[in-house]
Amino acid sequence: MKPLVTQKTINLYQKYIGQLYSDLKKTTPIRVVGSSSESRCGNCVYDIRGRRSSGKYNSSGPSPFEGICPVCGGKGVVTVDGSVDIYIPYRWLDPSKNEADAILVSKLGDVKLRYLEAKGVLTVSPDIFAKLSAAVRFEVEGLKMVLASPQTKRGLKNDYVFRMILKTEG
Ligand SMILES: [Zn+2]
Repeated sequence: MKPLVTQKTINLYQKYIGQLYSDLKKTTPIRVVGSSSESRCGNCVYDIRGRRSSGKYNSSGPSPFEGICPVCGGKGVVTVDGSVDIYIPYRWLDPSKNEADAILVSKLGDVKLRYLEAKGVLTVSPDIFAKLSAAVRFEVEGLKMVLASPQTKRGLKNDYVFRMILKTEG
C-alpha cells in the first residue's frame, strides 16, 4: 500500500515551513534599549592615580599598540552599550477590530496607548536575556515603548518561547 503522506509531500512541507520560519525571523527588529555602563579597558594597563590609560599594552588585549590605546583612545575605560536588537514575530493589538485584543487591552490599562504583542521562538544567549530583563525601554518601528506586562519565557538551554506585551510610553 502506498503511504498516505508521500516523501514528496513531506519535502514540500519542510520547504514551506522552513521558508515561513525564516520569513518570520525577518521581522523588523525590536530594539532592547539598556543603560550603558563604563568598564575598564581590556587592552591597556589602567593608571589608577591618573584615572586613565597608562599608555601601556596589557599583553592580553586584542590590539597591541605603542602610544595611545586604540581600544579606549587613552581614556582607560570603555562604554558598554546595554542595547541589543532581537528578531521575534510581533503584532500590534487592534481593540477596534479584534474582541480578544479589546479584552486584553482593557486588562492592561490605558486604551489610548498602542499595544504590541511579541511572541515566538527566541534562540538567544543568557546575555541577551539579561539585557531583556534589564531593558530600560524598547523601540519598535520608531516608537518608544515600555513593558505592559511581565515577560514570560518557556524552554530549555538557548531555545525559548518568549512573550512580552509592550505599550507606547504614555
Ligand atoms: Zn585602553
